[in-house]
Parts: sequence; structure tokens; C-alpha cells
Amino acid sequence: ICDRDGWLWNNGDWLPWREANTHLLTHTLHYGMGCFEGVRAYDGPHGAHLFRVAEHTRRLCDSAHALDMPLDWTAEQLIEAQRECLARNGLTNAYLKPTVYFGAEGMGLRAQGLTTNVMIAAWDLGDYISPEAASIGLRALTSSWARHHVNISLCRAKTNGHYVNSMLALNTAVKAGFDEALMLDPEGYVAEASAANVFLLRDGVLHTPEITSCLQGITRDSVIQLARQALGIEVQERRITRDELYTADEAFMTGTAAEILPLRELDGRHIGARAGAPRPGQPISEESVTARLQRLYRRVTRGDLGDDLCEFRYWLTPA
Ligand code: PMP
Repeated sequence: ICDRDGWLWNNGDWLPWREANTHLLTHTLHYGMGCFEGVRAYDGPHGAHLFRVAEHTRRLCDSAHALDMPLDWTAEQLIEAQRECLARNGLTNAYLKPTVYFGAEGMGLRAQGLTTNVMIAAWDLGDYISPEAASIGLRALTSSWARHHVNISLCRAKTNGHYVNSMLALNTAVKAGFDEALMLDPEGYVAEASAANVFLLRDGVLHTPEITSCLQGITRDSVIQLARQALGIEVQERRITRDELYTADEAFMTGTAAEILPLRELDGRHIGARAGAPRPGQPISEESVTARLQRLYRRVTRGDLGDDLCEFRYWLTPA
């Protein structure tokens, strides 16, 4: 990933990709105190655009503020830098990763005298999940690793160090032959997947865990708005238990990179069996709420708005 052409933005400077190094004593490398975003750009009918970049950048600034990492950049400046990052690298379908990190001025946990730095990398994402994979979805295992607790870390902040917990859960599940980990909060209620939010459908109503242990996902918010406004489906944010997922009619996961992925099986239970859902490994039904939301989300992200989705035009920022 390091040996390639391209430009990275670092504190307002453009660095050739191969030369974008940082010192080995960079504080964030040692203690994980830092925050980042995953943002997507898509090719649309009027050229490339960023999807909900204002909301992502606000979450980045909020994360930095909550972690007490003072930023020298405004959200507007960071949005402009992300747009430039696409243009300089000639990208249209891309993933951008703005990251806030402490410098190498000291090693102390007091973080005194440390600079707060911001970098932005962007790379081509192509069709990250093929249409077939998006229809087959995932088999998940409930993890023995609990998700974060509000009194242990800042659950709203997208903190670099949080992803140790995600990786422990995901890699344990993958080694056991599953695609994903379902993570519970420390009290045993459903929180999220390793890097995605979770929804279930039961009797025509969508349910998703309230924002306590899980990240306040921007795709989660897009899906809630699309379900309510474009499909007229009720959405409840509340505490959810794992057996509710076992017995759901449908379930899916949401995230910027993965978009909407059906959750087909959890701990060996076929989700939606009672409602006649195709077996895990088979494509989901085109009429399912999951497939309908996938189609709407695909249209809105790719700028194919039409009359029915034009109220979501403000989600797109020309690149
Ligand atoms: N939870 C976690 C832990 C994540 O890393 C992500 C990906 N950013 C999500 C949820 C989904 O968030 P979003 O829809 O904003 O990408």
C-alpha cells in the first residue's frame, strides 16, 4: 500500500505517496490516541461527488474534540482538502481516510506539548462489494469480546485504539470460519458488528440498537431516513437481544465501505427461516426490505435521485 503513485495531504502539504512517512516515535502509534473517518466518493451523472462528507467531517471534529486533541483546521477546510485529495489523485470511486494523530514530540501519557496533526489518504475503491456478494450477505458469530462501554471509552468517537477490540472480534470469527463478528455490549445487548451497525426487521418494523456502545454510523442514519421517508417503514432505536436477531424476519449490517449487507445466519441460526427467507448462501429475495433499501441506497449514493429521492440531494457534495 506504500509503494505507489499518488498524493497524500498532511497538515496542508501535499506529499508524494512514497515519501509520506512519519517518525517511529509518533505518539498515536504507541498509544492509539487518535481518530479517523472513512468517507466515500462515487462517480455520478454530474461527475464525482463525496457522500455525506459534512456529517463525516463533523464526526471527525467531534471525535478530536472529545479526545481533547485540538484541531487547527475547520470542518470547511477539511472538506476542501478531501475534495482536493480526489482531484489530485484523479479519483472518482474512492475511499478517503482523514486521520487526526499526535506527533512525535514526546512519549508521555499527559500528551503535553504534542502537536495534533491531520492527514488524508484516498484510494480507488472500485465496486468494493460485488452485487452477488451484496445479495448473498454474511454468516456471523456472536463474539466473546464485548464492545466498548460508555464508562471505558468514548463510544461516539471513532478512535484508532477502539479497533483493537474490533480486530480481536473479527479475527476470532474469521478463524472460526465465519464472515463477521456480532458484538454485544458489556451487559449482553446487541451493539454492532466489528465495523458496521446492525438492523433487524420483524413484522414490518425495523429495529436497531440505540447509540450507547455502538458507533453513531452515518450509513445507519441514511438507512433510518430512507426507511422512514422513502419506504414509510417504522424504525425503532432500542435495546436488542441476540435472540431477537435469531428470530428476525431479516437482518443486515451497514457501513460506509460495505454499504448494506444482509446478515443471513447468526450462530448457526438461519435468519428469516420462519418468514421464508432463502437459505444462507442463496441470494436474498428482491422483494425483501433489505434488497429494497440496498437499491435505494445505491441510487442515492450514486446520485441517481429522481423525484422520489431528491430531498436527499444535500447528501452529495461535488468533488
Ligand atoms: N461501527 C464501527 C465500529 C465502524 O467502524 C463503522 C464504520 N465507520 C460503523 C459502525 C459504520 O459507520 P458508518 O456508517 O459511519 O461508516
